[in-house]
Amino acid sequence: MAEIVVEVPDEVALLSLAAEWSDHWGAGDVVALSGDLGAGKTTFARGVLRARGWIEAVRSPTFSLVLTYPIQPPVAHLDLYRVRSAEGLGLEDLLETHLILVEWPDRLGGFLEVDSLWRIHIEFAPQGRRVTLNSPALDES
Ligand code: ADP
Ligand code: MG
Repeated sequence: MAEIVVEVPDEVALLSLAAEWSDHWGAGDVVALSGDLGAGKTTFARGVLRARGWIEAVRSPTFSLVLTYPIQPPVAHLDLYRVRSAEGLGLEDLLETHLILVEWPDRLGGFLEVDSLWRIHIEFAPQGRRVTLNSPALDES
């Protein structure tokens, strides 16, 4: 599977990267954001939302599990750290209408099989962060 690796020195560079990649996504795409606590998953989600015109606050969905943003198309931002599985969260319905951004995606189970999955892994690097993108969709281009 094709892979893209980018190093970002600071938060601003991560926000720009998120904005750039965000152009490729729409309703029905699942963006799985993995990486340790503090790696930058929520920051990446904020970059996507900013690029799509959301100007108000972007909070971490740590406690609410799902936060939705009424832009076009609508975006759902999930943080599954506190749950064992994504069952019962209504993801099937969200997938039909929303772009989905998920932190701690290992809880997604069967949703990790979808063709529209974009796996983004953020790691701490000596200078900033290393961001790796993998997707079946990359093989088509
Ligand atoms: P996560 O959701 O993965 O737990 P957050 O996005 O909430 O992480 O937090 C990342 C923190 O790291 C922020 O406070 C951000 O300012 C800081 N940071 C420092 N350098 C970077 C970088 N290169 N990319 C992203 N975040 C960075
Ligand atoms: Mg987070």
